[in-house]
Amino acid sequence: MAALAIINSPVSITPTDRLYLSYEGNFITSKAGCKVLSISRPEQQQQGDDATGTLIDLAFDVSPFHPQGGGQPSDVGTISIERTEQILTVKKATFSFETNVVTHHCSVVAADVDIRVGDTCTLNVDSETRLLYSKYHSAGHLVDSAMYRLGYELPPEKGYHFPDGPTVEYKGLVEADKRQELVKKLKEEFVTLVNEDIPTTICMQIKEEAEAELNRTQKNFDFSLFVDPEVRIVGVADFKCPCGGTHVRSTKELSEFTVTGIKCKKGVTKIKYDIMPSTSV
Ligand SMILES: [Zn+2]
Repeated sequence: MAALAIINSPVSITPTDRLYLSYEGNFITSKAGCKVLSISRPEQQQQGDDATGTLIDLAFDVSPFHPQGGGQPSDVGTISIERTEQILTVKKATFSFETNVVTHHCSVVAADVDIRVGDTCTLNVDSETRLLYSKYHSAGHLVDSAMYRLGYELPPEKGYHFPDGPTVEYKGLVEADKRQELVKKLKEEFVTLVNEDIPTTICMQIKEEAEAELNRTQKNFDFSLFVDPEVRIVGVADFKCPCGGTHVRSTKELSEFTVTGIKCKKGVTKIKYDIMPSTSV
């Protein structure tokens, strides 16, 4: 019997319907009936599979997986092939801005995995990991809101929302003698925003309208980066920004987080935040 029934197919250029982009879809972690549009095996794996099992890259018509990007780690999870009931492990999902396709990088231990284009699968995101990443990401937005409330209207730059040292960055510097005071105030404002239990908003907005609304007071966001006519706008703790990540429903879910430090260098202010050690799991 053939060890593998995997045949490389042409790479899909059909955009993946990314469920997490809508508000309700942001909380969906399982989706049945997802159709396989392309299958490929990473070249380095075709000569012989290692201890991690066979590696396969898959694209579907629709997916609940959040691919790595925007400072947020990729979801992990499993894929169940409905025809054969075999299970694949999703190690990482990535997104192509050229094709709008999410590629699911999978491994399978079974030597006789059988998957074909047209098969339907149930895609399961590990919901605990998703929630943790959503919290880390949303807490970064909460820092943005706290900064804004404290009168620091520095344009937000990139954020790093991985659990190993999350930070949010702003263009511009905070005066040296005000930095520690700012950290203290941010800690307090963080608690206030959590207690206000502010619901998250996620919506698609016409680019020009979003730009006019978000940059009302100053040019905080560079909308020239966006090519599509509509931009996904996320509001956490009443602070809106263009964003492609996943989020919690309300600020009250972020009570275990706090601001932990500040670093100013080369025209950039970095605010560090994390889970408080006492509530860390
Ligand atoms: Zn976000």
